[in-house]
Amino acid sequence: MAQGAAGPGRGAGGTGEARAAAIVAALAAVRGALAVAAERGGRPADAVRLVAVTKGFPLDDVWRAQAAGVRDFGENRVQEALPKVAALPAARWHFIGQLQRRKSAAVAGRFALVHSVDRPELADSLSLALGPGASPADVLLQVNLTGVPGQGGVAPAQAASLLRHVLGLGRLRPRGLMTIAPLVPVAEGARPVFAALRTLRDRLQEEEGVALPELSMGMSADFEVAVEEGATLVRLGRVLFGVRA
Ligand SMILES: *Cc1c(COP(=O)(O)O)cnc(C)c1O
Repeated sequence: MAQGAAGPGRGAGGTGEARAAAIVAALAAVRGALAVAAERGGRPADAVRLVAVTKGFPLDDVWRAQAAGVRDFGENRVQEALPKVAALPAARWHFIGQLQRRKSAAVAGRFALVHSVDRPELADSLSLALGPGASPADVLLQVNLTGVPGQGGVAPAQAASLLRHVLGLGRLRPRGLMTIAPLVPVAEGARPVFAALRTLRDRLQEEEGVALPELSMGMSADFEVAVEEGATLVRLGRVLFGVRA
């Protein structure tokens, strides 16, 4: 599909049914593009999971996406996420934003996957918040491959020590890596970053002897390139729901 293809509008003047139909259509287009990109990367379409990022969009849109078959949802702010998680407890919720330690307790145990573990102190807080006897929580380590501050992410050189720290806690189960690509004029420009995340994952698996099957990479502007480079989770907002207000 065309790079930067717009999702449905925000239902301006439209009925709820029109909005639902627009989400269904956007989802079908995205699923088609995902399948083609996966095939180009030599993988089956079901090797890539679509995470619908609902930040900035109302609960009604979450319901509509669920009705359209979406099972995985992502949010990046705790306050905005919690009411949505409570409303759709059977969905798989992903926490994808930067997380402050003091909000760990609100996140621990409520999300199927936390994508943004990027420092030992945060891992400690999440682990503590889970409490003894809780089943281990799946997490990804967020890696900053662009040097852009303010997006979070551990420096690649520190990723191995963070991984060892997380493994040592016993209550968090590292499942892979996440990154946010740089803003580039064309998606192709993000390819080296996606390839670098995969290479880092391969190296960590080998050196630390732990399976890290998940690569969370790719957003609306660049998901097809990310899938070609091995993404197993793509985090998509605008391409499904349109421009945020
Ligand atoms: C908002 C957000 C996304 C989705 O971005 P879109 O451009 O709307 O697809 C993905 N990942 C993270 C971490 C985000 O904060």
